[in-house]
Amino acid sequence: MGKVIAVDGPAGAGKSTVSKIVASKLGFTYIDTGAMYRAVGLKLLQSGKPLTEKFLAEITNDIEIKLDESAKVFLDGVEVTKEIRTPEVSKLASDVSKYGFVRKKLTELQREMAAAGSVIMDGRDIGTQVLPNADVKIFLTASLKERARRRFEELKAKGQTVNLADVENEIALRDKQDSTREIAPLVQAEDAILIDSTDMTIDEVVEKILLQSNSYKLQATS
Ligand code: C5P
Repeated sequence: MGKVIAVDGPAGAGKSTVSKIVASKLGFTYIDTGAMYRAVGLKLLQSGKPLTEKFLAEITNDIEIKLDESAKVFLDGVEVTKEIRTPEVSKLASDVSKYGFVRKKLTELQREMAAAGSVIMDGRDIGTQVLPNADVKIFLTASLKERARRRFEELKAKGQTVNLADVENEIALRDKQDSTREIAPLVQAEDAILIDSTDMTIDEVVEKILLQSNSYKLQATS
């Protein structure tokens, strides 16, 4: 059995950045579950259809999502790594993620991916729903202002025209929607370690997660 590190938390907390680094340090596979919800959102957008349960079910029944080792994302065989990162797709990802049949399909896929080896998986419900027996559970957060600032810089660096206030509003709305939905809401698992990265560097967060992973290994062998 491979090992599992689950990293959950709100948008812009730095989950994917630190998870990728931890994955490369430990030789684990990084799995970005948000990218999978984004792929469903993008498929709906590309279809030009409105978000109704009927259309979403059609799309979900007939979707192929693949993540490769370098975290590239493929939707129905076409690479969409960049296309899924727009604010429009972020909002749609959150909108589609409240449907039980979407969550069921992606959760099954995520469990299959985790069964293939040691993984670090990030998302909203990994430690609570997808892999509740994860060896290490992290709940990574930061203040709304700081998360908005980071996401703003990230989008700007990618050449997108964005405004800081819009980014902050988008993140606040998405967090609210993700935390208050009925199925698998964003909550800290009881046994998760809380890391508030507001005043921490990326390296400090990585170190903290590695420390947790090492102390687990020590416990497991003693
Ligand atoms: O992590 P990221 O911001 O890319 O996720 C996009 C959206 O996908 C989230 O706002 C959330 O609604 C949804 N999501 C989810 N469960 C996960 C991962 C993401 O509901 N495990």
